[in-house]
Amino acid sequence: MTSKDKKSQSTNPGIVESRISKVIRDISPYSVPDIDCRIKLDGNESPFGLPEQVQVKVDDALKKLSINRYPDPEAKKLIELISKVSEFPEEGILLGNGSDELIGMLITTLTSGTGKILCPAPTFSMYKLTGLAMGGQVIEVPLDENFDIDLDSTLSIIEENDPDLIFLASPNNPTGNMYNAGKIAEIISVAKGIVVVDEAYSDFSGYTFLPLIKECENLIILRTLSKVGFAGLRLGMLFARENLVAEINKVRYPYNINSLSQCVAEVVLDNHEFVVENIQLIIRERARVFNVMSSLDRIAVYPSDANFIFFKAENADSLFSQLVQKDILIRNFNKPGRLENCMRVTIGTPEENDAFLAALTEILSS
Ligand code: PMP
Repeated sequence: MTSKDKKSQSTNPGIVESRISKVIRDISPYSVPDIDCRIKLDGNESPFGLPEQVQVKVDDALKKLSINRYPDPEAKKLIELISKVSEFPEEGILLGNGSDELIGMLITTLTSGTGKILCPAPTFSMYKLTGLAMGGQVIEVPLDENFDIDLDSTLSIIEENDPDLIFLASPNNPTGNMYNAGKIAEIISVAKGIVVVDEAYSDFSGYTFLPLIKECENLIILRTLSKVGFAGLRLGMLFARENLVAEINKVRYPYNINSLSQCVAEVVLDNHEFVVENIQLIIRERARVFNVMSSLDRIAVYPSDANFIFFKAENADSLFSQLVQKDILIRNFNKPGRLENCMRVTIGTPEENDAFLAALTEILSS
């Protein structure tokens, strides 16, 4: 061993402690269990691939792509199409490598007031994880007994702390419910900071706050293509007033939407009738799965406005492993506190849902 090697060995552990904040050292990374099952109902993805005629168009478009070139840095054509489909002005749209990236861009740009970020709990974990990693102070407000916003405590925390950013996922993940729209509107009108309504699942609730941006300068909407058939593209969308988008755009990495994603998303949005049909099918299947699950003993099932169903079991860990043994993967949230024995199952194809319901019925009646 040379003296240089010895030096690097003895100083390396110190680098972690001295150069990386305790906050980051204490964070657990966002993790997805690596379990391979034939029926995958854990990730809130769509179970449907591309129809044959759209696949052909995608293949043709990809063949013409110059992969040696950088993508369009502004993804202009894609933004034009999203503007058309959403009926929202192009200047008010910003794209991210998944809405995960947009959450990071929002926290980078918009936490220079009090540095405080407010979100209900339980909710999507990336608000807290990214907020902490970027040096923010995250305040969590427990949801009420129906997993709706506790308006009184939320409003008093807003008044006391004046958060720069408030994240409200509606429908919420993992609980599946929309928050009361009046409560969201009240928070938007009271907050002096920015309110982000994360509508990752709004295609399954049929409700959107998008038109309210005209009236509210502090409202930002997040959407994603991940839940409606295109999780692999990593395409998140932000909608807001033009002046906000212009500022957030300054922290966007160059070429953040790669050319393959731009190319495929353009074809898909140009031919999106099948996406709408698939959403309708998921909504119908959600009602069927909910009805069967609600008829079973030994689980409590919560109503859903999303593409998944949240439920509580007697012993989530045991139910999870028994389902895995039957080649079915769902999401186990079991941890002490509000999520004790809580689980989430994504709505799949009718055949996948049948298999899940049959397995669940058998396990619960044994
Ligand atoms: N917001 C919510 C509420 C989510 O549940 C998810 C995905 N789990 C995301 C955002 C991230 O979506 P994307 O795949 O676009 O990064």
